[in-house]
Amino acid sequence: MNAQHGLELVFYLAQAGCAVAQAAIFAYYYRVSRLEHLRLWGLSFVALALYLVFALLSIDLGEPPLAIAPLRMLVGACSLIAAYLQVALLALGTMAVLGRRLPTPRTIGGFLIASILLGVITTLLFAGPPAASMQRVVLRSALRYALTGASYLIVAILLWNRARRSGLGARVAAFAIGAYGAQLLHALAILIAERDFGLHIGWAPYIGVLDLIAQLFIGYGLVVWLLEDERLRYERADNALRRLRDFDPVTGFPNRRRLLSDLESSLRATNQRTAALLVRIDQADMLTSSLGLVAAEAVMAEAASRVEECALPAWPRPARLSESRLVQVVPHVHATGDLAASADNLLAMLRAPFHSGSRELALSASIGIALSPDDANQASPLIAAAEAAAQQAHDEGGNRFRFYSTEMNSLVLTRLGLQAELRRALLRGEFELHFQPLLQAKSHRLAGAEALVRWRHPKRGLLAPDMFIEEIERLGMIEDLDRHVLERACREAQQWRAHDGKPLSVAVNISTRSFQREHFPELVRAVLAATGLHPRRLELEVVESGALDDIDRATECLTRLRALGVRVSLDDFGTGYSSLSHLRALPVDCLKIDRSFAEEVLQDARVAAIVTAIVTLAHSLGLEVTVEGVETAAQLAWFEQHEVDRLQGFRFARPMEADLWRALQDERDTLIAIEA
Ligand code: C2E
Ligand code: MG
Ligand code: MG
Repeated sequence: MNAQHGLELVFYLAQAGCAVAQAAIFAYYYRVSRLEHLRLWGLSFVALALYLVFALLSIDLGEPPLAIAPLRMLVGACSLIAAYLQVALLALGTMAVLGRRLPTPRTIGGFLIASILLGVITTLLFAGPPAASMQRVVLRSALRYALTGASYLIVAILLWNRARRSGLGARVAAFAIGAYGAQLLHALAILIAERDFGLHIGWAPYIGVLDLIAQLFIGYGLVVWLLEDERLRYERADNALRRLRDFDPVTGFPNRRRLLSDLESSLRATNQRTAALLVRIDQADMLTSSLGLVAAEAVMAEAASRVEECALPAWPRPARLSESRLVQVVPHVHATGDLAASADNLLAMLRAPFHSGSRELALSASIGIALSPDDANQASPLIAAAEAAAQQAHDEGGNRFRFYSTEMNSLVLTRLGLQAELRRALLRGEFELHFQPLLQAKSHRLAGAEALVRWRHPKRGLLAPDMFIEEIERLGMIEDLDRHVLERACREAQQWRAHDGKPLSVAVNISTRSFQREHFPELVRAVLAATGLHPRRLELEVVESGALDDIDRATECLTRLRALGVRVSLDDFGTGYSSLSHLRALPVDCLKIDRSFAEEVLQDARVAAIVTAIVTLAHSLGLEVTVEGVETAAQLAWFEQHEVDRLQGFRFARPMEADLWRALQDERDTLIAIEA
């Protein structure tokens, strides 16, 4: 072994060792990050190591005797295939980086097959008798140098373009890849100079050093690039997390957390008056249930940007406190009159119609205003005070603003007490059902009964729904109550006996909120299945106003309920604002004319005219008409004359406990006697 050969051997081994180490680093990072280009680049380094080992072997085989020529050819082919594979994998990895995804299997397959074919073909083309073999080996190497060198240069240029946007590592890698490409072409030039022009190039034995240096820098650059990428990804994730923690994702406004911390520091920094305007959208609950979450959020985002539009340049950005609540902090308040003007301005902005798809929505807001240091001198109590004032504005009908006053606090406290009690009541089953009979108008026979909820309060006794229903709705517990009532009513009705072959039906009041839930018909189906009540015997009462605000949704729900075989009545009919023309489109079975009509029908000719029109219209549409609140014989006579179908009212019976109602079914004649 001469000195030059020994040097080559050392360089080859050193390069192969580096390549294996780099492949191991990429394999590790690939396992952690699953970035495909790392796998391809890792494999490229494996191919490089293989190339070096095979190349070393083929040098060591030297000028072989004829017998080992096939072996030499095989080793040569392997080294060439590995060399071309290395470039192909490097190029594929680069494509993955630039395109941000793995190249298609076809592309990958194409590159790999092309490299293998190139290796095999060049080996075969330049194989021949030993005498000529040296010349051919040189040609083979020249071709390899030319192809791989050019490929490296192309990859380098592509990466350089990308690397300009990245950190130092990418630039070093791109530069080193380019340098390696140039070095391969340099080796080609030496080869040609020595073979074809007979020149003696003094540094030729040492060019392996340049290979090694370039390879080292490629590896170093790629690894640093990797680390930089990693850091960048962490930074991005960290920023995203920070944004999520401090900002509302829908509006981009600061969230509760951020509001409280910013407000706290600004209250501490100033001794001037600061106000918090808490804006709550009055119809927020309805929005989500009728539009769905996504559209409702879009409407809220629009509301938020309107609040922002109203802000003066010196004010901080509004914050989103909760789904339907926004807070505008107003620093340096000089006169409360200015605040009132700002609140009025906000109310006007929020009254302008909103759009959701093709729908136009009329919304309103309630605004609560609290001042620091007058009402509170810390952020959290200040917001709580504004919240109480907004609640007050909402309770007074919404679309107004209120300044905080200390009485509101006690109001909030009693409300909190009631909330806790109501929650407990649901858990302990303190709600019970009373039943009020419904009669056929012509025969005065029992048709069924309406289930009416009562709260048996441990201290205050039996409470009527108007004492608690609204609060339950506000607390978002109404759906639980409705489900509870529905189950109890169906289970109860299942035990009622049939009259004249006609089974008694049960009418259950359903809140608008439950009715607007998409899964409501499914809930009804499940309750019917669980209790075994025939669907025909269940009648659901929904209030005309509210439930029908969204006609499309209501129609869909009604159709699904109808498909189950359940009947639906429009309760308190005549008090809502949905027009009679809607009736044509709505698949309901019955109108239940509001109690106020029964009260006034004898006194007011216009009311009588309206009831007559409603009955005629309903009948022409094939709907039944029930009248509720019939108290006197005169009222009864009037309604009978005007051909309503069913009657309900104190004239016949008041709501009664379940046992009493069951006993009454057995003594049906008693009831008829009362009414006679
Ligand atoms: P509603 O569905 O219109 O129920 C009829 C109300 O009129 C009942 O009051 C009933 O007691 C009363 N009433 C019946 N006949 C007469 C009469 O001749 N004269 C007078 N002055 N009143 C009569 P109640 O039980 O206090 O229920 C009030 C409202 O509470 C109901 O109005 C209904 O909207 C709601 N409600 C009752 N139970 C439930 C329930 O289980 N779930 C839901 N979501 N709401 C319910
Ligand atoms: Mg009712
Ligand atoms: Mg009613």
